[in-house]
Amino acid sequence: MVRKANLTLEKETDKMIELRNEQQLAKAIERAKEIKPRVKVITFGQYQVQGSTGGFYIVTCFKRNGIRIADCDCIAGMRNKPCFHAAAAAGLHSGIASMR
Ligand SMILES: [Zn+2]
Repeated sequence: MVRKANLTLEKETDKMIELRNEQQLAKAIERAKEIKPRVKVITFGQYQVQGSTGGFYIVTCFKRNGIRIADCDCIAGMRNKPCFHAAAAAGLHSGIASMR
């Protein structure tokens, strides 16, 4: 059940979450720590995160102009709000990225 499998990391969209929005991000990280969602690696930069109601969301993490971006396909993510899916995936992503 991999949606958006052919999504390119260079896609242009205004739905992205800039991880430098630190206040909102801190909240999302807090929620991620509370909920501890299951994050599955689809490929480097693409993660499947289980939501609080059991659904799965796809989070794409990448860097653009030196800014780390996590793009989630949930409703909050589409409204440009940092969600805990993106926070959880971003945490895993930076862990994996630092090992490469
Ligand atoms: Zn989300």
